Amino acid sequence: MLDLNLRVHSDLHLPSDIVTHKHFIDGQYLESASGEVTERVAPSHGVFVSRAAKGTEAEVNLAVAAARRAFDNGRWCRIAAKERAIVLTKVADLIEKNVERFALIESLESGKPISQARGEVGGAAELWRFAASLARTSTGETHNNLGDDILAMTVKEPIGVVSIITPWNFPFWILSQKLPFALAAGCTCVIKPSEFTPSTTAMLADLLVQAGMPKGVCNIVLGHGDPVGALMTSHSDVDMISFTGSTAVGKKVAEVASNTLKKVTSELGGKNPQVIMPDADLDAAADAVVFGVYFNVGQCCNSSSRIIVHQDIANAFIEKVVALSKKVVFGNPLHVDTQVGAIVTPEHQQKIDTYIKDAINQGATVHLGGAGMHVEGLSKQFYQPTVISNVRPDMAISREEVFGPVLTVLTFQTLDEAIQITNDTEYGLSAGIWSENIHNCLEFSRRANAGTIWTNTWMDGFPEVTFGGMKQSGQGREIGQYGFDEFLEIKSMVMRIGKTRAPWVGDT
Ligand code: NAD
Repeated sequence: MLDLNLRVHSDLHLPSDIVTHKHFIDGQYLESASGEVTERVAPSHGVFVSRAAKGTEAEVNLAVAAARRAFDNGRWCRIAAKERAIVLTKVADLIEKNVERFALIESLESGKPISQARGEVGGAAELWRFAASLARTSTGETHNNLGDDILAMTVKEPIGVVSIITPWNFPFWILSQKLPFALAAGCTCVIKPSEFTPSTTAMLADLLVQAGMPKGVCNIVLGHGDPVGALMTSHSDVDMISFTGSTAVGKKVAEVASNTLKKVTSELGGKNPQVIMPDADLDAAADAVVFGVYFNVGQCCNSSSRIIVHQDIANAFIEKVVALSKKVVFGNPLHVDTQVGAIVTPEHQQKIDTYIKDAINQGATVHLGGAGMHVEGLSKQFYQPTVISNVRPDMAISREEVFGPVLTVLTFQTLDEAIQITNDTEYGLSAGIWSENIHNCLEFSRRANAGTIWTNTWMDGFPEVTFGGMKQSGQGREIGQYGFDEFLEIKSMVMRIGKTRAPWVGDT
């Protein structure tokens, strides 16, 4: 399980130098042919922290060609799975040795607290180890019941070259939900991190080399969605796209990919509710609500941005949530006790604020927050913890992914009504229920339309338990056995024993 509370007891300081990154293609580190670079300003501190080569069509073509060669010549997919597992396990060990280095730059580029970044980077090693175990236990089926003269089997094969495109909000964690599973299956990859958070993906290249990954198996192209991501989704030598990001871009990816009928798996946005029944442990529920909405400043696909509270306890529960919200430590991501850091860009900060102002204009009540936040000596990209009630289900703030530290409160009277409100959304990523009554919990779990249902908890995750969305939250699954299987093709082999097949063309 991801340890979100990993702490060491000293604050960190801004590094004196910015880090620089090149593309990693066919085992070589390359600048862009154009010479262009992208620079990232830390959301929290407002200073440049990294500079990365900015890819173009030339680098995408080189990377896809390298991945294609590495797949077709079998240097990775035709070796024993045991050998692949050894490399993946070495990568896991190296990740653990590099947690501090990776966590610092991840915190600076994304704005997330250093303790959380350490938990994500360190926890990612477990995803690599689990994927290694799946490589070795993958099997198919045999059919020994088709008649005396027939034996058939279904074997699994790696799907081929996979484009992996990741978002900025959990850069190393989400990469690790995809890459080791694709590699365990025997695929080769072209990877593009978000232009906002390229560093830890680029830094992984060194670890792959140290672990003995053959050249061309993993290629990293740095740059923007247009042109790099778009070309990775349209290229005819790519067999599959594994995408995590917004629903809007996910739809574009699926549309472009349809021209070559590539397989697409996508992990997209969410508008995730927690339902609070009157018999719930309300202290535990309030704590989970506060965690669910402020974790990563709400810039989280799994953000529990909606709570659906029983009418009878709504006022008391809001009071509890507001009181707890005031205790959450917002501020400098480099301080070890900080729980919530900075907003990713000034534009996004503005977007969050607009959702709130529009809701107020439409009659919503603000119980807490609703404005930017001043953090001594840092940038202006911080937002107050915000709790809003008197929202209607038709308001944008109730329906759209705000992606900020903003909780909207809706109320219900019956479980049926709570389930109806839960499902009244285009999204279907996750949902939760708090109740001491097992019948309520099971009824909700069966009828809520979401890929993950949490009961009396929120955001517990494990490498073994698959994850993914229904409806417009995505297609396919990630992690767990199902996530691994996404990177496999299925082939049936039918064999006649003893040459007993009757001729089709008979003697005339
Ligand atoms: P985004 O969609 O803006 O970008 C995601 C990635 O796609 C980036 O690498 C970007 O450069 C690339 N991209 C942009 N345009 C592209 C195009 N035309 N073709 C191909 N690639 C393109 O998302 P973001 O702002 O980085 O991340 C936030 C979003 O991701 C939120 O909606 C969040 O809910 C979602 N998300 C979902 C999950 C999940 O598991 N369901 C996890 C994390 C984030």
